[in-house]
Amino acid sequence: MGTANGGDADGPDSRRALRRLPAVHVVLGDERLAEAAGRLGREAVVGAVRAAIGEARDGLREGRDAGGDPRGLASRALAILGGTRPALRPVINATGILLHTGLGRSPLAEEAIAAVAAVARGYSNLELDLDDGERGRRTAGVARLLRGLTGAAAATVVNNNAGATMLALRAMARGPGGVRGPTPEGGPALAPEVIVSRGELVEIGGSFRLPEIFEAAGVRLREVGTTNRTRLDDYARAIGPATAAILRVHPSNYRIVGFTEKPALEDLASLARARGLPLIDDIGSGALGPGMPGGLADEPTAAEGVAAGADLVLFSGDKLLGGPQCGILVGSASAIRKVEAEPLMRALRVDKMTLAALEATLALIADPAHAASRLPLWRMIGADVGSIRRRAERLAAGLRDELGLDASVVESESFLGGGSAPVSPIPTAAVRVGPPFPAGSPSESSWARALRRGDPAVVPRVSRGAVLFDLRTVAEAEEAGLLDAIRRSCHDRWPDAGPGAGVDHGGPTP
Ligand SMILES: *Cc1c(COP(=O)(O)O)cnc(C)c1O
Repeated sequence: MGTANGGDADGPDSRRALRRLPAVHVVLGDERLAEAAGRLGREAVVGAVRAAIGEARDGLREGRDAGGDPRGLASRALAILGGTRPALRPVINATGILLHTGLGRSPLAEEAIAAVAAVARGYSNLELDLDDGERGRRTAGVARLLRGLTGAAAATVVNNNAGATMLALRAMARGPGGVRGPTPEGGPALAPEVIVSRGELVEIGGSFRLPEIFEAAGVRLREVGTTNRTRLDDYARAIGPATAAILRVHPSNYRIVGFTEKPALEDLASLARARGLPLIDDIGSGALGPGMPGGLADEPTAAEGVAAGADLVLFSGDKLLGGPQCGILVGSASAIRKVEAEPLMRALRVDKMTLAALEATLALIADPAHAASRLPLWRMIGADVGSIRRRAERLAAGLRDELGLDASVVESESFLGGGSAPVSPIPTAAVRVGPPFPAGSPSESSWARALRRGDPAVVPRVSRGAVLFDLRTVAEAEEAGLLDAIRRSCHDRWPDAGPGAGVDHGGPTP
């Protein structure tokens, strides 16, 4: 098939492909469309099939391989009908990247899911103190758990860590202990500034860029030191009348190696205290304290930040913590009080479902006997290569024997991702499928695209002429769905595949 990869749109291949597009009644033979017609009426389904065929025709005319097989067109018609497949839907993550922001970061523990369902179904005491019937604080429950887990005097929660950072900057840069002006010379008050090392001016996930967060918070950034070395004295010399705080940021997604230096957090905290300034510690990943899954010794923990004397420690709820998206702030009572008094707090507040999931996640972490086995993220981090290899062998055998694919098991590496531990890959075993890919997929990337568009959607890793499936990030309960999605992609795109292709879902063959 020469229509993919920008083949001549008006060439003979393209015309042949256009002629091969199935008729409406052929696509309608798909059992899923018959079911949809029962629910939505035949007219709506026929309209959607016409639209799907029209799209494929346009695609072919533009020189794209638009997937003109009946099963693929039926899937597209179902998508057009909507309702059958929501825009946001579950995905099987076979990338081996455990915290993939594009894939929603951390899966939740069953306990957290149940807690979400329980408060979502009806009313809850979100802001009601059930003892006295008075108004309560929505974060009170999670704050109690966070205090216990980190040793901090107080805690609060907002929408995400970017929000937490903005809030911390604003709260610390205002009010007593914040802006100092007017200057000793009697000049106008200076805009407050916060000191950061040049080695920590991070960008995380494309949209969290520290200088831009400063700008949005209305706080001036005072850079000190150099990319690889910043000394305590650099901070000390930068402190002036406009200094409102010192910020330390964990460079989550990169490491500066070689000739490097930065002061210990304790020393930075002593300096800040001596000069009457708050110290903010953005640790990013959200390890709470000891007892995190193995191999992550590098990651700073909230408990360490608190013990070292930081006034505020900030982190995400959906990174190493293994919980829902949120930004957590723990620290001194006065710092948290200032944060909670910020008007921005209201704009960044978390909803009941997030709080329910977070409370259940923290409760699991507080019970070390259960955390490692109950939190899916921790379980996946801790899964040993041997067991992943055995699962990979089983999948590879299925792909070879049933579908005739060139599948083998290779040693590979999983990554924590999500802006964490960039330099510590986790050894894994992956199923590697090499060419030839199912027909209509001239390359590894086009087959990967077909898998992404499948049902269930599968996101594999594409690597140098092959498609890789890393089972570290695939739950055992998802394995059957993964095999089925691969099988279906072969059947959809390669009806003559392998000896048993299509056995389980004998849809019409063109
Ligand atoms: C991930 C990260 C952030 C952003 O956190 P979100 O929860 O994604 O908003 C901020 N700072 C650091 C150091 C991070 O690693």
